[in-house]
Amino acid sequence: MKNISDLTLEELKAELEKIDEPAYRAEQIFGWLYKKGVFRFKEMTDLSKNLKERLASAYVIGKLELCGVFKAKDRTEKYLFRLADGYGIETVLIPATGRKTLCLSTQVGCKFACAFCASGLKGFIRNLAPSEIVGQVLHFKNSLEAPLTNIVFMGMGEPLDNFENLAKAIRILNSPQGLEIAARRMTVSTCGIVPGMERFKRLGLQVNLSISLHAATDTKRDQLLPVNRKYPLKKVIKACQDYIRKGGRKITLEYVLLKGANDSLADADGLTRIAKRLKAKVNLIPYSPVPGLPYEVPNEKGIQFFLSRLEEKKIPVTLRRSKGADIQAACGQLAGRINK
Ligand code: SAH
Repeated sequence: MKNISDLTLEELKAELEKIDEPAYRAEQIFGWLYKKGVFRFKEMTDLSKNLKERLASAYVIGKLELCGVFKAKDRTEKYLFRLADGYGIETVLIPATGRKTLCLSTQVGCKFACAFCASGLKGFIRNLAPSEIVGQVLHFKNSLEAPLTNIVFMGMGEPLDNFENLAKAIRILNSPQGLEIAARRMTVSTCGIVPGMERFKRLGLQVNLSISLHAATDTKRDQLLPVNRKYPLKKVIKACQDYIRKGGRKITLEYVLLKGANDSLADADGLTRIAKRLKAKVNLIPYSPVPGLPYEVPNEKGIQFFLSRLEEKKIPVTLRRSKGADIQAACGQLAGRINK
């Protein structure tokens, strides 16, 4: 059976039209699904009995099965969900003063095998459906004291490699009849899939784009992010410039600090040059070590050294303290335990 939560509002309208129901019914259904967070057609009390039955015989309302919650000392919470086919995905809730950010997965596993990341270790399994992406948000709909303020697509997987479903999920999250999360409060993070960045630009949404740069030369980036061999820095930078030009949104560069691999003075200056060209802000992330991988996080002095070099050069930079290190909250670390 089809999952009704895979449909955007436009698609649901088209489906209802086929059975001679007026378009506004789709808005009513969306309201039940996303504003009230209802999981049974029976509860949609303003629909006719006939329509409720027809919907129930044609669709399911997808709900993610929670199979674990891990709470870190820094208040980061990691949720492990089991999908209908048994695979696991992880979603991270990051509370901060005045905001509540949810970090979503977009794929089970990942194709891109970044050298330091846990997600690529077991390869790619499958794309998440729109309902499975939105379902991660929906889980929190009625359970949080304060509403979610921000969504980041920085969990397991490469969002731009699951383009169609990502775009649908963003539309559902953004829809005034849906979850009503402003595009400007959503951020898609990519390892630099250039054609995906171009397509994303053409969607014309005000969603923020974040690039996992992690190295400022092709030689280093080729080693850390093998995808760089296909889409080298020059192309990634050009795609960023096009994105900025088209949407007027700023780009963020993410830079995970790896001891001895990308944390030298020359690395900081290379990053500075790229950030200046793109007028980008930089998000430094001290590495969260992954068992079995050879990378380490620099010591506090090394982190401060890198940070202050960027600050000296007047780059807007934030140091994102790795969240939830004690609950293995880094990309792919937790789901890796059940996706054997
Ligand atoms: N595929 C997307 C989004 C997923 S990962 C991307 O590459 O952007 C989100 C961020 O976490 C990326 O910048 C990724 O490089 C980084 N990351 C992965 N493993 C990490 C680890 N162990 N410690 C710190 N950051 C990590």
